[in-house]
Amino acid sequence: ATPTALMVGTGRGAQLGLLIRGPEVLESTRTVDTVLLDKTGTITTGEMAVADVVAAQGESANEVLAVAGAVESGSAHPIAAAITRAARAAHETGDLHPVEDFASDDGLGVHGVVGGRAVVVGRPRLLADWSVHLPDGLTEALDAAQQRGATAVAVAWDGIPRGVIVVSDAVKPTSAQAIRELRALGLAPVMLTGDNEAAARTVAAQVGIDEVVAEVMPQDKADVVTRFQRDGKVVAMVGDGVNDAAALAQADLGLAMGTGTDVAKEASDLTLVRGDLRAAPDAIRLARRTLGTIK
Ligand code: ADP
Ligand code: MG
Repeated sequence: ATPTALMVGTGRGAQLGLLIRGPEVLESTRTVDTVLLDKTGTITTGEMAVADVVAAQGESANEVLAVAGAVESGSAHPIAAAITRAARAAHETGDLHPVEDFASDDGLGVHGVVGGRAVVVGRPRLLADWSVHLPDGLTEALDAAQQRGATAVAVAWDGIPRGVIVVSDAVKPTSAQAIRELRALGLAPVMLTGDNEAAARTVAAQVGIDEVVAEVMPQDKADVVTRFQRDGKVVAMVGDGVNDAAALAQADLGLAMGTGTDVAKEASDLTLVRGDLRAAPDAIRLARRTLGTIK
């Protein structure tokens, strides 16, 4: 295509809500055959809310929420924001306990000291690192929530499991349509997420995705992209989070949600300004049309 055609293409992109880094981006957009999509904040709204608090026998759900909320106030993760908000709302003054020695284990959870208690909130795998194992009742609550597509995290302090907090967000109303359009353009959609396999599969089924790569640690998302590329695929990655940045940069085409983090946008070739996934098939169609290969 001529430089003029490419300039016109990027201009047309702006009208479609696509921020395109440079005219040459349209070339890689045209050749993509596989689209990896992050789940939280990309396919779903990412606006998580606490749906349930399940206390272990002899524990108080209110106390579990208050203590977990205190620790999560140190984290910027959407799960943390939901738990902190709910903990504030449940307290008459809206105050949280102070937290000391806060630390975040990316892709696993958080820990810190609240009122002298050593608290861990996160995946059962993180609790296991602290030699905490969930009783059957809590494991069942966690599994049931994940089967429904929700995300569940466990709470423990002083080496004893205290409860499970269920958080969930909604699938964006336009996600299923976007996936259908990607398929109609001949692209294979694949979900790539750090979340649990059962929750990921439930959400994937709701939007029409069959292939799921779940429980991927943040530092491993880029390796999954590389694996597809080694199999000869031309890969687009769509994401919003700090933990998607390396994968967005590794992909042949990185697409960031306009509603996402700056880190994700900086690592990408293209930004879907409105955070509407339908802008992804729009971009592919635009590139094919601009470069004269309308399908
Ligand atoms: P995603 O790919 O969906 O953005 P992440 O890699 O950020 O997922 O997180 C993976 C999992 O790690 C979460 O589903 C949750 O179980 C756990 N986790 C991450 N951050 C936190 C946190 N601040 N509090 C509790 N659990 C967390
Ligand atoms: Mg995300």
